[in-house]
Amino acid sequence: MFAPHPDDESLACSILLQRAVRAGAAIRVVYATDGDDNPWPQRVLERKWRLDATDRKRWGRLRRTEALAALRVLGVNVSAARFMALPDQKLTALLMCDCRSALERFTAIIADWPPTDFLVPSISDTHPDHSALGVMLRLVLSDYFPDPTTTGRMAIWSYTVHGRSAAFFDRAETIRQSPIETATKLRAIRCHKTQLKLSRKRFLGYAGRPERLVKLGTRDKTVADGSIGSVSRLPHSLRIEVRLSPKAMRMSEPILSVLGRDEAGALRCATMRLPARSSRVKMVDSASLDQGAVAQYRGNAFIGQLTIPISRFLAVHPIFVKLERRSWFFDEAGWLEIPAARSTQIVEPERDRVKARLLAIR
Ligand SMILES: [Zn+2]
Repeated sequence: MFAPHPDDESLACSILLQRAVRAGAAIRVVYATDGDDNPWPQRVLERKWRLDATDRKRWGRLRRTEALAALRVLGVNVSAARFMALPDQKLTALLMCDCRSALERFTAIIADWPPTDFLVPSISDTHPDHSALGVMLRLVLSDYFPDPTTTGRMAIWSYTVHGRSAAFFDRAETIRQSPIETATKLRAIRCHKTQLKLSRKRFLGYAGRPERLVKLGTRDKTVADGSIGSVSRLPHSLRIEVRLSPKAMRMSEPILSVLGRDEAGALRCATMRLPARSSRVKMVDSASLDQGAVAQYRGNAFIGQLTIPISRFLAVHPIFVKLERRSWFFDEAGWLEIPAARSTQIVEPERDRVKARLLAIR
């Protein structure tokens, strides 16, 4: 299991881990961050307003001990835990700017101990750390196992903790849990005392919520999510239909990010601020991808089509797209994966279409 933070093992995969233990499976749980950038519970519990690097480190150590206690409750040997101490709350920035060394570390962990089943965060999760880690692991797994169908028993399962993305829930399998399993899950969640301080009800509520998984396949189609209505990958451009609610237009300007690999195999991320009117927009990225994107709106500022040049991105690799519109802390939606150019079929859930009609002002 790959967990963005200490507590995700308990919230998202307690039932699965209990069953893996009962089945006698060998388990490893890899924590990407220590959850150390968690200021509000820390301020309340430590009665300290200003928190410096030393304070955060101490908090991270505390959260590690809580995660180990939770693993013990679930019957997982604590020697199974690995902590990578990547920057908490900054995994999206890491993914978009320079995640090469993080990807190498993930690859080394997997190469050292290749499992038969992976549990990874969904790219549709609305917590930016979760969706970013989901993208990083997809990049690692597609490089390390370019064709999982030939590797036999290996399966990749994604889970969400935050949000109710249709892209995830419409495809998810639900795991039914017994009362004993639920009680154990509740005890595991209670080990995360730092998190219960301010979010007790929400955290304990996870115990009764069924765990859900989506099995990832090599031929998965892109499912529209959030404000992105549809995406088409053409040979040299990406056409994205966006549908923004009027409320969203009053929030900070939405930012579109496009992530892919260039001809040298290096990751490139281009971003653009969504303009309020039809215009040619400059994409900004680290490698000066200075081709203009085109934003074309149909009579109003809330439904529009963006044409993004993607000739710098190699066609044999998938492209990831995210429309960032944060409210407070969580995203409206996570990332979408657009498969390599050979398959471009896009599926759009009917309910999104209905919702979009309600939101649009014509
Ligand atoms: Zn988390």
